[in-house]
Amino acid sequence: MTHHAGDALPAGLADWIDVHAESLDTDATFAAQVVPRLGRAGLFRVGVPHALGGAGGTTVDAIEAIASVARHSLASAFVFWGQRTFIEYLLQSANEPLRVRWLPALLAGELAGATGLSNAMKYLCAIEPLQMRATPLDAARARFRLDGALPWITNLRREGFVVAAAFDRHDGAPPAIFAVPHDLPGVARSDDLDLIALRGSNTAALTLDGAELDETCLIDADARSFLVRARPAFLGLQCGMSIGLARRALDAADGSSAPVRAALIDDVIALRHELNALAGRLYEGVTSGTFVAAPAAQFELRIALAAVVDAAARLDVQAAGGRGYLRSHASRPTPNDTARRSREAAFVPIVTPSLVQLKSQLAQQQRGEAA
Ligand SMILES: Cc1cc2nc3c(=O)[nH]c(=O)nc-3n(C[C@H](O)[C@H](O)[C@H](O)COP(=O)(O)OP(=O)(O)OC[C@H]3O[C@@H](n4cnc5c(N)ncnc54)[C@H](O)[C@@H]3O)c2cc1C
Repeated sequence: MTHHAGDALPAGLADWIDVHAESLDTDATFAAQVVPRLGRAGLFRVGVPHALGGAGGTTVDAIEAIASVARHSLASAFVFWGQRTFIEYLLQSANEPLRVRWLPALLAGELAGATGLSNAMKYLCAIEPLQMRATPLDAARARFRLDGALPWITNLRREGFVVAAAFDRHDGAPPAIFAVPHDLPGVARSDDLDLIALRGSNTAALTLDGAELDETCLIDADARSFLVRARPAFLGLQCGMSIGLARRALDAADGSSAPVRAALIDDVIALRHELNALAGRLYEGVTSGTFVAAPAAQFELRIALAAVVDAAARLDVQAAGGRGYLRSHASRPTPNDTARRSREAAFVPIVTPSLVQLKSQLAQQQRGEAA
């Protein structure tokens, strides 16, 4: 398989992310730079058709691009995921004028794209109600008043963003997904959330209070069918974060001193083997489209990949030994990458769809099949 590039990033970008990875995890100093830098490196064009301004290739190439960033910094990879997933919504939307309006700036990294659809994903699985509502303002239902709040959204870049969110309609129509620009009156971004990690990711809450939009900003008038179609890419791109982080943690363990390596190498090899097999199955399903009708198969892969990340991060810790428990060390003035990767790995199970959610859905399905 040609996809397992050790490091597909341009050297300048890889170096910049490496130098700032600790800061991107622990503070917001470089938060504004991530999207423009990834954009200038052409990463948002990967897997986007040439005809739409992209570099061509497939969704699998985009997943691998996210994985290659995740090797260096999960905060950066998560920003990449938000941007690329928003781009994916535009690619899958039937609203061509909306695509024409936003896609060029998004692909170039001049505008941030954010996806506030965790709430909608949880709504689809009957975990929580939609937290946004759209009230039609005219008889033709072409103009809407938007209200509500979402507690967590990444890539709400202070310099400007457009965010996708799902809205309950209350007028008999199904929930719809709108693209909401940051400068619309009534749209407010909170301060950055006080996170324990990924603090350079522009993660904040979003409040809409009487914001008005018309149907030209509809990504899709039927959130449910749209999300069922978009979910394989949403989830696949997200798995890129797990794949890249696990690869880097395993490489770190593999690169330790001879006696340490000798003790751990069997585990490293076994985990690498499993990781490659899971990525292969993921890429097959994303490419063939089978996850649209059989989401459980993809849920299982997401769960298994999270387990590999967990095990790989533990090997990384074991290989680093006591050195890995120090903030810094005379023999290594650079920040402690092992500790950073452990914090990053803690995020993998909780991002929507969380492992708790997926496990309970799979159990529900099995109960249904048994009945
Ligand atoms: C750093 C960070 C960035 C984020 N960025 C974004 C973003 O860009 N966009 C976005 O939309 N969201 C984002 N989120 C939100 C995230 O993806 C989850 O939606 C959020 O963390 C889930 O909220 P909770 O854990 O409070 O879930 P809760 O609702 O408190 O649930 C706790 C756990 O139980 C599960 N659960 C709850 N009820 C049920 C049920 N009935 N059946 C099965 N399982 C259930 C949940 O899935 C979850 O795992 C972000 C979160 C973090 C921490």
